Amino acid sequence: MIYQGSAITVARGGDEIATLTFDLKDESINKLSSAVVEELDQALQAIRKESGLQGLVIASGKDVFIVGADITEFHQIFEKGEKYLVDMNQRVHGIFNAIEDLPFPSVAAINGLALGGGFEITLTADFRVMAESAKIGLPETKLGIVPGWGGCVRLPRLIGADNAIEWIAGGTENKAKTALEMGAVDAVVPKEKLEAAARDILEQANRGELDYQARREEKQSPLKLDSIEQMMAFETAKGYVAGKAGPHYTAPVEAIRVIQKGAGEGRERAQAIEAKAFAKLAMTDVCYNLVGLFLNDQAVKKKAGQYEKQANPVELAAVLGAGTMGGGIAYQSASKGTPILMKDIKLEAIELGLKEARKLFIKQVERGRLGKADMAEKLTSIRSTLAYGDFEQVDLVVEAVVENPKVKGGVLAEVEKATGEETILTSNTSTIAIDRLAGNLKRPQNFCGMHFFNPVHRMPLVEVIRGAKTSDVAIGTAVAYARKMGKTPIVVNDCPGFLVNRVLFPYFGGFNLLIEQGADFQRVDKVMEKFGWPMGPAYLLDVVGIDIAVHANEVMAEGFPERMAREGKNAIQVMQENERLGQKNRKGFYVYEEDKKGKPKKVSDDQAYELLKPLVKEHREFTDEAIVARLMTPLCLEAVRCLEDDIVGSPAEADMALIYGIGFPPFRGGALRYIDAMGVAEFVEQADRLSETLGPLYAPTDRLREMAKAGERFYS
Ligand code: NAD
Repeated sequence: MIYQGSAITVARGGDEIATLTFDLKDESINKLSSAVVEELDQALQAIRKESGLQGLVIASGKDVFIVGADITEFHQIFEKGEKYLVDMNQRVHGIFNAIEDLPFPSVAAINGLALGGGFEITLTADFRVMAESAKIGLPETKLGIVPGWGGCVRLPRLIGADNAIEWIAGGTENKAKTALEMGAVDAVVPKEKLEAAARDILEQANRGELDYQARREEKQSPLKLDSIEQMMAFETAKGYVAGKAGPHYTAPVEAIRVIQKGAGEGRERAQAIEAKAFAKLAMTDVCYNLVGLFLNDQAVKKKAGQYEKQANPVELAAVLGAGTMGGGIAYQSASKGTPILMKDIKLEAIELGLKEARKLFIKQVERGRLGKADMAEKLTSIRSTLAYGDFEQVDLVVEAVVENPKVKGGVLAEVEKATGEETILTSNTSTIAIDRLAGNLKRPQNFCGMHFFNPVHRMPLVEVIRGAKTSDVAIGTAVAYARKMGKTPIVVNDCPGFLVNRVLFPYFGGFNLLIEQGADFQRVDKVMEKFGWPMGPAYLLDVVGIDIAVHANEVMAEGFPERMAREGKNAIQVMQENERLGQKNRKGFYVYEEDKKGKPKKVSDDQAYELLKPLVKEHREFTDEAIVARLMTPLCLEAVRCLEDDIVGSPAEADMALIYGIGFPPFRGGALRYIDAMGVAEFVEQADRLSETLGPLYAPTDRLREMAKAGERFYS
């Protein structure tokens, strides 16, 4: 044994080949924490001292190769400042360069996922062999940084600037076939042949059949590009990538700049450029929030995993109602492998639901994601029916009929009779209290909410709502089924609007007040889109459906009258009264024309302004900042209340639900992280100022005031 650490071992077989194996103790995966990097340094020193070696294999003892740096350390390390990070990365460059400079050939045997720093390590080796099932990539730009351990330097020299830009700016995970075609790896073999293939490469290198010195030379020299190629590769890419990433995500373009600046340089100077850019980006709020998002996502998944331990298997599901939501749920279930019965009372509805599902499957086939035979099989796993015939075998039902408590109550009681004792019943209601619906059931313990978002195939969130009598098995089963459908379930407690709509409607409340004080709704939309929302509030209301919004608003006003009920009509009601229901009837705040692809395109409409005129009580000028404050404050305050009222279990779950459910700008991290970023004390001050004239919708809670005084935050 040449070296033995708790994450790395270096062993010498009977021959002159050393194998450095990553196998992090007590973990299911390998990641490059600071401690592991220190071990790598020691392991290399030991390798360098060992005499007679003729080659090095870098391998993994886990299913994955290395998933990347340890992101749980990022916030803590990044806090140490820019200079610290430049030095840290330069030090890692030194360690990685030492692998590249070993006096004998090296090869990385990539058995599984190799991402970020994990892939960058393999780039230090002279050769790479990859298992057929493995994937490699540099996803750092998704965290608001650039690859910082040589990825921006070595990858373009290996696969060309254009390909490297695609991989790095896109943050893609790349399959073995693509990796081989591009030259990122030298061979792709079945997993069980990986070690033999790695050794074979080393032997060829030692026999002089493969020129490993030339490989090194190539990775360490300036990129060979003439000025036209430079222009094509870098300038064109910057424009394209900037357009795709949008103004808030600067890391992808910064990565191109790093590659460009380093292109004419040798290894060390190019690495210094990379280290500097990494450190600078690591200091930004966007990076802080995207790292936080990653950690929150992990936390939410972990929690779902715990709920799932209580789950019953769902081999057959059913959905009641073949409308917008029912059709989407049937598609998603079938698409992810759970057969589903789709029941409606109208044949036309079923035909429409099936037609929608077929359309979505055809799109998958057109995109090459699904074979035709698979499509046929999946389509037949949606069995439509007008009766409860086969419901006895159903493990879980999602009720998605019209939003009417009486209809829903009747349907739930019916389906309870038609299904077995163990069947879990769920409702996709957006507003009706789960406990109220449970009142219709003999087995309320088997019942919970399962709130999908529209369109089901695209929206990642499912709110799983626990009623007072809901059992852990019901929650676990709903969570497991949502996960099997490829969704992110977040468990919340019952209240009007549950978590997401309860937080969203105060935002619309703020919007109504702005209109009454003379703000132009199109300007409000533009400001909020610039802030990062996928669509502004007026446009969002049109997409959601004005009728649905009016109804939900009534429920919220009834549930929380002290801050959400208001005298007189609001802008949304005015739209409804004038039969402007939004996209569904092509007019709401905007009117909708069809674009070339047949999709609705919003167009400004003077009539909408005319209709709103009687609501306008004063004409005030608002700055962009004022508009943001007027809309974000009530939304964030409601998220605080949901946390305080135990509707949601943690800041991480609250923030992720808003990002996944209503498109809260991800780079801002969520409502509670937004308050943290502003500073709780400053947020409270802003809310107090606004509530003086705008009332209780803007009033901070007592607990939030205490947090402000004590200097506390939602995230430590
Ligand atoms: P929809 O009007 O498109 O579809 C409802 C379907 O239920 C219709 O096909 C109708 O024929 C059928 N139906 C009525 N009574 C029935 C019965 N007794 N048995 C079986 N089917 C019956 O409505 P939708 O938009 O799909 O909404 C369904 C539910 O999902 C509602 O509770 C709604 O609040 C909720 N929801 C809707 C959205 C959305 O954006 N549309 C989002 C989240 C949740």
